[in-house]
Amino acid sequence: MTKILIVEDEPRIASFVSRGLEAAGYETVRIEDGAEGLAAALRGDGDLVLLDVGLPSMDGFEVLRELRARGSAIPVIMLTARSSTRDTVEGLEAGANDYVSKPFTFEELLARVRSRLRENMPQPSVSISHGGVVLDVLARRATVDDREVDLSAREFALAEQFLRNPGRVLSRELLLSRVWGLDFDPGSNVVDVYVRYLRGKLGADHIVTVRGAGYRWE
Ligand code: CA
Repeated sequence: MTKILIVEDEPRIASFVSRGLEAAGYETVRIEDGAEGLAAALRGDGDLVLLDVGLPSMDGFEVLRELRARGSAIPVIMLTARSSTRDTVEGLEAGANDYVSKPFTFEELLARVRSRLRENMPQPSVSISHGGVVLDVLARRATVDDREVDLSAREFALAEQFLRNPGRVLSRELLLSRVWGLDFDPGSNVVDVYVRYLRGKLGADHIVTVRGAGYRWE
């Protein structure tokens, strides 16, 4: 569940925000103190921080600067005072991803939260790599040490099986069924032939023969 850290010392605002976010399906943690908020964010104890400016022990700007200085990329939305453009500018300069001015409506806040979380979603992985060999599964391209290598569809599919299972012994029968389907007779030596092709194209040392068992990607 997505967890949101609410670093805000005004109980009325903190509770309004946390009740709304929980109703919208988020988990929330309420923290009233700047230094404690910083520690929680640095522990990775949240997916997004809502950060008030005026806080005990450390103000919101100090928290944010320290967070960024220590390499944290957690999205931060500052809760600033509407009267203060200085707050807004200072917050964005200190590394805030967005800000919401008080007083704000819950809908306004929720829209910002959703959009910042969406930006921060990891992109689905389209490439798999191991030992200098990279397969871009969507583009069907293969590279070895950044050099592009031309693989046929079967070679690519076979290489993909190995790269998705590094260090595991894959039997000829398993590879036959996954790469060629069940059209091939289990006695066929097509796997051995294709492993030889892959060794020629990807490097001789990656695929090790495990006698009596199959092949393993090292
Ligand atoms: Ca405050």
